[in-house]
Amino acid sequence: MAFRTASALVLLDIFYAAEILHSEARSLRPDWIRSSAMNETIVLPVTDPIVELSSRKGVVYGRLSLGGRIATLLGVTIPLGGLAAAVIIEWGHGFHWVDLGLFIGMYILTTLGITVGFHRLFVHRSFETYLPVKVGLIALGSMALQGAMIHWVGLHRWHHQHSDNPEDVHSPHHQGRGLIGLLRGFWHAHIGWAFYADPPGIDRYVQDLAKSPTLRVASGLFPVWVILGLVIPAVLGGAISGTWTGLWTGMIWGGLVRVLLVHHVTWSVNSVCHLWGQQPYRSADESRDNIVFGILAMGEGWHNTHHAFPTSARHGLRWWQLDMSYWAIRLLALVGLAWNLKVPTKLASEKERRTS
Ligand SMILES: [Zn+2]
Ligand SMILES: [Zn+2]
Repeated sequence: MAFRTASALVLLDIFYAAEILHSEARSLRPDWIRSSAMNETIVLPVTDPIVELSSRKGVVYGRLSLGGRIATLLGVTIPLGGLAAAVIIEWGHGFHWVDLGLFIGMYILTTLGITVGFHRLFVHRSFETYLPVKVGLIALGSMALQGAMIHWVGLHRWHHQHSDNPEDVHSPHHQGRGLIGLLRGFWHAHIGWAFYADPPGIDRYVQDLAKSPTLRVASGLFPVWVILGLVIPAVLGGAISGTWTGLWTGMIWGGLVRVLLVHHVTWSVNSVCHLWGQQPYRSADESRDNIVFGILAMGEGWHNTHHAFPTSARHGLRWWQLDMSYWAIRLLALVGLAWNLKVPTKLASEKERRTS
């Protein structure tokens, strides 16, 4: 059963890798990269006031191929199967602290791979680091089973450029009015969008990353990282407990159930954090600071602040806004592995506050 699950994951991820390699082969244009403020050492805040959301329906980019839809469906549902397996096994064998430790440890490490690596480093260039650290962050982020890094970056840069406009890939708005429109919008922003094809010309958003052979290879090794993300907790679980059961429960808790939680927490930044929460800053979209996902997503839920200061390494700007991803970046800086951290000046952040 577990072997078949792993095989399905391998097939799924080979599909993703093929897709990203294919997309990288197309022509690249640097228009947006040049026009962004990502090279500034001080973050330039978005200065547009909130715009009236268009009532137009969201742009549909075309469905994924059948193979793509099946692969996405497997990626979404297999971790759910892991949860069912975990419940059944725990029922029979009882609870083990080793499994909880692997679950929490892998959750923190792979979430940091997404937040510190994919998001703050590769999408927004909010700090600089050495190439081996970059590769390490690609490995950890890939273990979260959210697609290859370069593909992830392209979609997220698109999201920022078109945030909550009809062209946005995963806005919860533009799916109709009333409760039905809200539910449809939530579903679309959470996971429904992943069943649609990429926006056209998205390759030009990742030219800076695609031109590095090392980053391209590390990103393309996505299936390998995903397998390691299952094998590592399995080996640790087996070694620490000294049992075969510990090996399987280690893989299920530190692998599949952990992927399930990281998935839904990350997706909630796209769905929940564009619907519910505070808007302390002016940003030209519906992004919100949401305390629940500020904590669970290790700082990424301070999403209105992030949209107002996209290149900031720090998302929680207030003293009480926990931002564990920023702490991790500060820790890297402390040991000399990160530098040129970008954060908005106090003046810039006060200027962008909605009420003054
Ligand atoms: Zn957003
Ligand atoms: Zn972002």
